[in-house]
Amino acid sequence: MTKTWNQAAFTAELGKIRVHADEKYLAARSHDYFWYSPILNDQLKDLRGELLVMPQTVEEVKHVASLVARHRVPLTLRGGGTGNYGQCVPLEGGVIMDLTRLSEVIEITPGHARVQAGARISRLDDAARETGQELLMYPSTRQMATIGGFLAGGSGGIGSLRHGMLRDPGNISYVKVVTVEPEPQVIELHGDEIQKVQHAYGTNGIVVEIGLALTKATDWIHTAALFDGYDRALDFAIDVQQDGLDCYLLSAVERRFAPYYRKFGDYFPADRDAIFAMVAPEEMDRFRADVEAKGGRVSFAMTKTEIQEAGLQPAYECGWNHTTLQALKMDKGWTYLQVAYPRPFDPELVMRQMQRHGEDLFWHHEMARMDGEIQIFALPLVRYRGKDAMYDLIAELEEKDGCTIFDPHVVTIEDGGMKEIDDSQIAFKKLADPYGLMNPGKTRGWTADMARGEDPNTEN
Ligand SMILES: Cc1cc2nc3c(=O)[nH]c(=O)nc-3n(C[C@H](O)[C@H](O)[C@H](O)COP(=O)(O)OP(=O)(O)OC[C@H]3O[C@@H](n4cnc5c(N)ncnc54)[C@H](O)[C@@H]3O)c2cc1C
Repeated sequence: MTKTWNQAAFTAELGKIRVHADEKYLAARSHDYFWYSPILNDQLKDLRGELLVMPQTVEEVKHVASLVARHRVPLTLRGGGTGNYGQCVPLEGGVIMDLTRLSEVIEITPGHARVQAGARISRLDDAARETGQELLMYPSTRQMATIGGFLAGGSGGIGSLRHGMLRDPGNISYVKVVTVEPEPQVIELHGDEIQKVQHAYGTNGIVVEIGLALTKATDWIHTAALFDGYDRALDFAIDVQQDGLDCYLLSAVERRFAPYYRKFGDYFPADRDAIFAMVAPEEMDRFRADVEAKGGRVSFAMTKTEIQEAGLQPAYECGWNHTTLQALKMDKGWTYLQVAYPRPFDPELVMRQMQRHGEDLFWHHEMARMDGEIQIFALPLVRYRGKDAMYDLIAELEEKDGCTIFDPHVVTIEDGGMKEIDDSQIAFKKLADPYGLMNPGKTRGWTADMARGEDPNTEN
């Protein structure tokens, strides 16, 4: 905690807004999935917010924003709390604003949804399905994550092979942002301007409403194909993408993960490498034929209802960072990295990496699209051998292999994915968070001297 503040006065001014100050709530709502990283775990595990507020309306959000500005107290926003890099861990204590009660699905029209930021993605996607539509993409944490948290903390995931990354043009149509000032404003951003708050970790305004594109719903078939060789699995994945097979998910998972996918038994045996996919029903014959042509076999193909009835995870929980989670549940000695491959993708590079790193790295690859082009990511498991070894590995993958690492062992936007300070996000922060109260410590682009001077109305 960096400063004292009048918590009792703040609480009294909250009126009817739901608030919790007990240790149990604060401990649970101060954390996310940073524990994937032993480096972040050491750094963040003991940090706590001091007060948890749960507004239910935009008016209540504005009221909290005003109090935060007047009391000059740090504010950390939180959706489902599924971020991986301590994105919603309050580094300097203060107030945690949990937005999950601000959750109205406002309107669903052909091709478009308007939704409050705290709505769970699963609820929004289910509501879209009732109109014969679906989301363009979601993270594998579909069940828990909120749409506001995805916008502010995520990047893409299931559906990204078909529709690109979340930041690609047309995926988000507008956002409404509440500023943190004594008299909060609501600012609406459209088109390219949305990038100002996208992936900004809640450092520059409270997103309260989002407009996003929908597409016609498909009853995706959750399926797995098995190959004798990870190179064959990767070749298959590349070929079907080039041939334009209609799929929502295509994840290659090497055989050493099989013991971690316990429920799948013979559907993913330890002597085969797997492709987990969500394939359009009318494409299944082509999918099967292509698998067989590459010497593989389809081990299961089920609708979402069938896969639930079989007691298995949906395919979207078999890829992206859920793969890491499956392993971590059984072996805490693992951590991970996020790797973007140079284009065009060369499977031979993966085979060389597998050879080079042996038992220290287990591999899975995610097929996506970025700026319209195919982009392959990996989220390898890494046997943790200390911080120095981790950064030697990162240097090797970047310098020797030409990969780009999105470092999941750091808390700032710049050190993680973005690599450089985004001036437009900082300029927007001066407007939306002029006192520098939001999620302090998460952006290197903000320095104390940028904060607006003392306000005579301040209560501290
Ligand atoms: C097992 C696992 C799998 C994952 N798979 C994926 C994946 O496939 N793709 C992907 O992109 N990510 C993935 N993630 C990361 C994370 O789940 C997603 O980014 C998710 O969308 C975050 O949503 P959330 O509601 O949990 O956000 P939170 O973790 O609550 O918040 C994330 C960030 O957004 C800020 N924030 C939250 N709400 C708002 C708001 N209303 N206004 C402004 N800022 C806000 C927070 O302060 C925080 O900095 C995964 C994580 C795990 C643990």
